[in-house]
Amino acid sequence: MSAAFNSPSLTEASSVFDVIVIGSGIGGLVTATQLAAKGAKVLVLESYIIPGGSSGYFEREGYRFDVGASMIFGFGSQGTTNLLTRALAAVDVSLETIPDPVQIHYHLPAGLELKVHQDYEKFLQELIAHFPQEEQGIRQFYDECWKVFNCLNSIELLSLEEPRYLLRVFFQHPLACLGLVKYLPLNAGDIARKYIKDPQLLKFIDLECYCWSVVPAERTPMINAGMVFSDRHYGGINYPKGGVGQIAQKLVEGLEKAGSQIQYKARVKQILTQNGKAVGVKLTTGEEYRAKRIVSNATRWDTFEKLLPAEAMPAGEKRWQQRYQKSPSFLSLHLGVKESVFPAGTECHHIVLADWAKMEDPEGTIFVSIPTLLDPDLAPAGYHIVHSFTPTWISDWRGLSVKEYEQKKEAAAGRLIERLDQIFPGLEAGLSHREVGTARSHQRFLGREDGTYGPIPQRKLMGLLGMPFNRTAVPGLYCVGDSTFPGQGLNAVAFSGFACAHRIAVDLGM
Ligand SMILES: Cc1cc2nc3c(=O)[nH]c(=O)nc-3n(C[C@H](O)[C@H](O)[C@H](O)COP(=O)(O)OP(=O)(O)OC[C@H]3O[C@@H](n4cnc5c(N)ncnc54)[C@H](O)[C@@H]3O)c2cc1C
Repeated sequence: MSAAFNSPSLTEASSVFDVIVIGSGIGGLVTATQLAAKGAKVLVLESYIIPGGSSGYFEREGYRFDVGASMIFGFGSQGTTNLLTRALAAVDVSLETIPDPVQIHYHLPAGLELKVHQDYEKFLQELIAHFPQEEQGIRQFYDECWKVFNCLNSIELLSLEEPRYLLRVFFQHPLACLGLVKYLPLNAGDIARKYIKDPQLLKFIDLECYCWSVVPAERTPMINAGMVFSDRHYGGINYPKGGVGQIAQKLVEGLEKAGSQIQYKARVKQILTQNGKAVGVKLTTGEEYRAKRIVSNATRWDTFEKLLPAEAMPAGEKRWQQRYQKSPSFLSLHLGVKESVFPAGTECHHIVLADWAKMEDPEGTIFVSIPTLLDPDLAPAGYHIVHSFTPTWISDWRGLSVKEYEQKKEAAAGRLIERLDQIFPGLEAGLSHREVGTARSHQRFLGREDGTYGPIPQRKLMGLLGMPFNRTAVPGLYCVGDSTFPGQGLNAVAFSGFACAHRIAVDLGM
């Protein structure tokens, strides 16, 4: 560790806080609230003015827009995978949610239209109607996803780095554990290709994975696919009343009720170390805080290249960077649109793809959410919110003059609106508000290197085996959030938060 980052004045004995969490994304907040509920004194430091990160919100002219996430898993009422419900309950808060009967309405090449209903059999019937010759393969593939989910949903989801917990879970649920061990190194594509032969149907499975893992099925871990492809029919997709930002707001309420605290506009510049151990943090204002344990909810790239000196990056992190790369960022459109544009029966979430070969290209796949179809209070009367986003790389937005940047934004927004207008005729004419965000906006407002959505495998890897858990090679430092096991998505980062808090609590003897 470089001498410049050493801080001889900081010792564990004089720590003011038990734990400092850098960042208030859902991963950071679940870690913080879990620890606060166990009696730890936690300080969350958030660089932005509100909590939530990629699940935050912003308000304009009577609209409340979700920054990113809006298709929310983890709000079910049964089993063990309903981690958002559990995280809120742990600090004695709760949230009203609105069930969404359809996860996604797909608008695909050659006029293929398909809905993923919460009702599993209804979804299968709709898919089978398009691919009748593949009925058996379709059932076998999705039924195998259920096997993964049923294993996960029968055990308490905590730290896989805690041997006593692993032993206990193994004795309580030996078959579920063996099932998970079997699926851990597999990818969804391996299973899909075992049962399905139709190339177009395999493309559809690729898109089913891509729309949350941002890689095709071949590189999507089966554990994650099992979760997503089953929980949407089990716990379902549920939208928080008042917008997605409410999840973080409620977690903060619970954190404070449990006696811990959060500071906004507190950007951590450095993780302070002493004899190679993380002992505190320094803010851009020069203030320093100390704690027994430090948790970074920033991405691994931000943590090990910016908050710690890049030249001292642990060997394990270098190996991880050779296996995983940053996914693209998104071009985001936040629109206010006249409600008459959307006929009765319009679904909340849509995915639009015109050419299978372009699924992974910038502006290839378009994601659309219309959350006001579920919660009309997020927009002025007579209007809907449309949040549409599509992959884009930060390299396409760098090195531009202000004028060039604005022109490029306008052109990209125009192309997106034109395509949306084909799905929702009259959308362009019905616009009342329009805001465009690029990869640069994601980097700036979410504090994520290159505005990335998260890590994606550089090549085909062995399922989830390569994703790191919460402990790092720097003693006293833990990572949480989407660049730790099991990856992106609110329920996934909540899992990472439960695991991180569990490991820290054991380490602190709590
Ligand atoms: C456009 C978009 C759409 C998405 N849609 C969905 C969806 O529909 N469903 C779903 O489940 N998931 C979705 N996701 C993914 C999901 O939002 C993320 O995986 C998840 O929110 C990441 O949470 P996190 O805890 O890892 O961290 P983040 O949300 O990245 O939060 C990290 C926090 O740390 C703060 N921070 C970073 N560095 C510092 C520092 N140095 N000092 C202080 N604070 C710092 C940041 O300001 C931020 O608040 C979407 C993401 C995007 C971008």
